[in-house]
Amino acid sequence: MKAMVLARPAPIETRPLRPLEREMEPLASGWVRIQVEACGVCRTDLHIAEGELPPHRSPIILGHQIAGRIIESTDAARPVGMSVGVSWLGATDGSCPYCAQERENLCDRPVFTGYDVDGGYAECTDARADFTLPLPRGMTALQAAPLLCAGIIGFRALRVAGVERGERVGLFGFGASAHLAMQVLRHWECEVFVATRGARHKILAASLGASWVGDAMDTPPERLDRAVTFAPAGDVVVAALASLRKGGVVAINAIHLDRMPSFDYDRLLWGERQIRSVANMTRADARDFLDLAAQIPIRASVETFRLEEANEALRALKNDAIEGSAVLVLSEALGRNR
Ligand SMILES: [Zn+2]
Ligand SMILES: [Zn+2]
Repeated sequence: MKAMVLARPAPIETRPLRPLEREMEPLASGWVRIQVEACGVCRTDLHIAEGELPPHRSPIILGHQIAGRIIESTDAARPVGMSVGVSWLGATDGSCPYCAQERENLCDRPVFTGYDVDGGYAECTDARADFTLPLPRGMTALQAAPLLCAGIIGFRALRVAGVERGERVGLFGFGASAHLAMQVLRHWECEVFVATRGARHKILAASLGASWVGDAMDTPPERLDRAVTFAPAGDVVVAALASLRKGGVVAINAIHLDRMPSFDYDRLLWGERQIRSVANMTRADARDFLDLAAQIPIRASVETFRLEEANEALRALKNDAIEGSAVLVLSEALGRNR
């Protein structure tokens, strides 16, 4: 099978992912083999490709928003032919204190897809059966792929921020994750304020029903109940904090921040304001979000790339040139329908 393989992290402009033919190993017990139909491209992939997140394994196949069909199975609950998704949380130990408290997102020994084990920038991939996510009926692989990290973790960020129906919520940065979270917020009848750079991001935010759209460091005209930051920049967290009412919460949806700048405690954090990070996801988050996404229904805005164009997709993401989500499209059929 064909795959795009990262042997050594390097600036994405130097095209560190190389095409390679790989033999698949025999399928391990408790695992399924998936023919990848679509794989979403995430900012975390960019951080791994460029080395901001240290390599866990080398060489590695990136990609943790995998939508496809099971072609070989060792688990009766995940039969051949089933449409499934694979997300960032590839497996947990199931035995650490966090797993025991249903906080598997914080597992002490997690296995991350496309980081600890090979992911979906490939024609075929293996995944732990009990961590695959059955896709809602009628959801295409192309629509499902961007939901599997950007969507689920964006949804978790709304939960971590404690969003309640009808509240005023700020989204700082407006890419793959935010444009999906926004659709959940509108469904919950929230008033949404979007601060982002890039004309296309602003247009997308307005078209999805933002009450206000401003530049990245602009202050929304109203005090916010909650805010979620999506940019990998600590300055944005401070800007979000500055827009909160007393008792408000900022949730940081970013696995990596450039730095956390110092800020004025008396003016910005006092008044029981909170800053919380959002780490990974649980399978419960995934199930709840995929059900909700099918019900709303959420429409991911996608830009498609071929598998061989993985470097270009990551580069476009780095340059803020993607409107919505970048998705690698694997199957010929999907390619014709896109
Ligand atoms: Zn654990
Ligand atoms: Zn991701």
